Amino acid sequence: MWPVLCAIMIQPVTVFPVALTCGSSKPCNLDFLNDTIRELNDILQHGIQYEEFKIHVTLKSIVCDAPARAMVKATKQYSGYYGCDKCTQKGVWYGRLTYQEIDNIVLRTNESFRDQIQEEHHCGVSPFTALPVDLIKSFPIDYMHQACLGVMRRLLLIWIKGKKETRITQRHVEEINKKLLEMQQFVPSNFARKPRSLLEIDRWKATEFRQFLLYTGKLVLKGSLRGDLYAHFMTLSVALCILVSPRLIQMHKGYAHQLLVYFVKRGRELYGNEFLVYNVHSMLHLAEDAGWFGSLDVCAAFPFENYLYKLKKMVRSGKNALSQVVKRIHELENDPGEMKPAKFKKIICTNKPDNTYILDDSSCCEAVALSHQRDDEGNQKILCRVYNRTESAFNDPCDSKIIGVYQINTAKSYMKFIKKSDLKTKAIMVHSRSGRHTKILAILHEF
Ligand SMILES: [Zn+2]
Repeated sequence: MWPVLCAIMIQPVTVFPVALTCGSSKPCNLDFLNDTIRELNDILQHGIQYEEFKIHVTLKSIVCDAPARAMVKATKQYSGYYGCDKCTQKGVWYGRLTYQEIDNIVLRTNESFRDQIQEEHHCGVSPFTALPVDLIKSFPIDYMHQACLGVMRRLLLIWIKGKKETRITQRHVEEINKKLLEMQQFVPSNFARKPRSLLEIDRWKATEFRQFLLYTGKLVLKGSLRGDLYAHFMTLSVALCILVSPRLIQMHKGYAHQLLVYFVKRGRELYGNEFLVYNVHSMLHLAEDAGWFGSLDVCAAFPFENYLYKLKKMVRSGKNALSQVVKRIHELENDPGEMKPAKFKKIICTNKPDNTYILDDSSCCEAVALSHQRDDEGNQKILCRVYNRTESAFNDPCDSKIIGVYQINTAKSYMKFIKKSDLKTKAIMVHSRSGRHTKILAILHEF
């Protein structure tokens, strides 16, 4: 099934299908996009009339995985010699196509793309050229496919199945698995999945690679992955933590880019030239895209992937899959509960592991009990256990406090009523086996 899905980027994000095609292989041409492009063009130029209101519409981004992006842009695939859709460098063959240039990169522009300045990049004319959009900026790198399912998965596979020099010993893999399973009790229920062992890596979903990349990996790899490989992984992890956070990206976008440049360069030293495949190379373009959109989650495939999963579940038998889906969508329009996004839950939970919050750079708390007390402005007060004097949990590649990772002493706490509105930044609280070193990690991405 090849659906064209649309998301209205107003919270909570709503996803709906605008076109559906079905077949035993990928579409042989782009005709299935024609109606969508025509309609989009009309909407972008004239807006939508709703009763007496005229609603102005802009196209924020077109989100695809790399193969689909090359298809709809009518360009070479990422595995071809001029396949990077952001820069003009020619790939180099090291058993597979890699992109070795890091510092002297010539970026593509909307104009150079439309004029097909680098002929080798193009296979035809993209139907999207009919739209008044920037054909480079409007097609962001999708971090779900490229960072989570791409680079993070690749690193894990190198560590557990790769060359002997950079492989983790069996004993250390078992240690990591044990730590991942212990982590289950600490991961809040906002996360769709609890951590699973690396034995099940072939079944890990994109959200599990994201959870590892942004949060659990930092903790479970420490001491089990070789020091230099761990330091290298941390540069990727910290950079992504910055780029998924709308707040951090404003302050540290440049730093995140420097980290990613270092990640790619150092990756070549540690894992060889063949490490710089397209997904790894695309990390050089990630900060630019994330900065343009405000954070990585604004232009990621996660909400579409969720919807796709629901669409697939609508097919009950192999016959006439398309009509089954269309019928089911119509039914749901009358009973929309299932397809609508979950409403924002601003409920404060007082049970572990859902009750940890960051208050500021030097303190965090656990919500313990709700109270009926309100202050003069009507804010509900929550009884909290406050931990002051938080410390940095690590200092390489930067002070961990920058990305909201702290170490606390749980023996030193006090109770205090805190305004509900001050409990904004939810966090993960992880106790060590000895119970002496408790770590707090701010949840930075959007669910
Ligand atoms: Zn590139």
